[in-house]
Amino acid sequence: MRLTSIRARVALLSTLFALLLVGGVTFATYFFVATGMRSSAEATSDRLAGAAERVFSRYQAQAVADAQAAGLTGAAADDFVREQVLRVVPEVVSQGLVYEGSFALSVTTTGAAELDVVWTVGDYGRAGDPERRQAALDLGSRTREYPSLPPLFLGLFAPADLGLYVVHLPLDLAGTRSAVLDVIYDPAREEAILDSTRLPMVAVTVVAFATSLLITNLIMGWALSLITSIKRTADSIDVGRLDVHLPQVGDNEVTELARSLNRLIDNLRYRNEAQSRFIADASHELATPVAGIRGYVNILRAWGAEDPGLREEAVSAIDRESRRMARLCSDLLSVIRSEEMVEFRSMRYDINAVSREVLANAATRYMDKHLDFEGPSEGPLWLHGDPDRVEEALGILVDNACKYTPDGGSVSVTTRRRRDVILIEIADTGVGIPEQDLPNVFERFYRSDLSRSKETGGFGLGLAIAKHIIDTSGGDIAVKSTIGRGTTFTVSLPRQRGKREAGA
Ligand code: ADP
Repeated sequence: MRLTSIRARVALLSTLFALLLVGGVTFATYFFVATGMRSSAEATSDRLAGAAERVFSRYQAQAVADAQAAGLTGAAADDFVREQVLRVVPEVVSQGLVYEGSFALSVTTTGAAELDVVWTVGDYGRAGDPERRQAALDLGSRTREYPSLPPLFLGLFAPADLGLYVVHLPLDLAGTRSAVLDVIYDPAREEAILDSTRLPMVAVTVVAFATSLLITNLIMGWALSLITSIKRTADSIDVGRLDVHLPQVGDNEVTELARSLNRLIDNLRYRNEAQSRFIADASHELATPVAGIRGYVNILRAWGAEDPGLREEAVSAIDRESRRMARLCSDLLSVIRSEEMVEFRSMRYDINAVSREVLANAATRYMDKHLDFEGPSEGPLWLHGDPDRVEEALGILVDNACKYTPDGGSVSVTTRRRRDVILIEIADTGVGIPEQDLPNVFERFYRSDLSRSKETGGFGLGLAIAKHIIDTSGGDIAVKSTIGRGTTFTVSLPRQRGKREAGA
């Protein structure tokens, strides 16, 4: 598996993440349990020391009373009390007075000799630290020696060891200079609890780790299978197949991606088909005049020499057909240029001035048709866009209006503003377009009435170019028509470029 692949990266990251998460949770849990056990051991050792202190005081008071009853006084009474306490208390303690623990009493007698008495229940020897013991004496109150917590991870793999808890208890023992009782507690109970959590905790850790890896792997496998199917589809597109579609299962980010790619494939197929249709239509349109020219050339060859009338007719037909071819080539070039030009300028211009210019041009070209031209007479109407391209589109629409309007008719251009758009209406009183043709007139090479168009010499490319320009400008174009009464094209253009941006 390459380390750069998504699978390798996700596997690595998810393993690290699972390790950190599961390991972190396990250590944190162990930490809280271990801290609790330690607090419990501290409390127990303190309670043990308190209990030993109370036993000691009770027996010393008893011994003092016994000494008085025996009529002992002074050093003799002290010796009696000390002997009683040192003899009786260990017995009581060793019979399991309070908890399992070790008790060591170090006594410094008045003669300054040190006497070490060890009462032991559990055998921990003299675990106390002499300095701490001295500190307890100096302070006159108990001091504690608690072990620090062992390294956490050890507790997960080795039996728990919480160390020994020692409390130094200064005592007031008759006839001595000082006495300190070391109460040592071995937290075996707490260690047992910690030990009992180890196995389940390790088991839960392993199961959690394995489960998180498995789940990540399953999710990754599912996501990657979608990516693989996208790749397969992309490969088929690469070899020219556009009849494929990506599966759109469920509702997630990959489905969104599949939906977008399917849209892209549809667009590609549509463009591809349009392209093929365009080439086929263009070839067909070119083939017609070529066939005509070849026919007349054959006629010329066969009879041209003998019949001057026929020769004249053939030459003028060849001239007509070759002009038609030249016009078609120039129209085709316009279509291709118009589609290639994706960068439109964005400048402020007056649409009324542009409309008047277009009408003036048409008026000179169609002077012999005696049409009535009417343009916007109001002041400037400003908008942002490419005035040259918009003039080209309006030119096509006005030219069509003139072409398809009989002599003496009228052609008008009106403009108005509606909210964020400028509406331009190009209306004529011409022949009109049959209703069934209206949805198709913007298609390339589409002519509503072939014979009529042939008469007027069009190839059905003008409206496709105009629509492309309007679309790229972020606008819309629509047509309404009534047979025999006229046609109105309505162009809407955004006043500000970007407000109604189309796919430029
Ligand atoms: P053409 O070069 O044939 O005019 P267009 O793309 O400009 O190509 O127009 C397509 C067809 O739509 C025309 O052939 C014509 O039948 C119809 N058409 C366009 N404009 C008008 C109009 N103003 N009045 C009637 N028919 C129209």
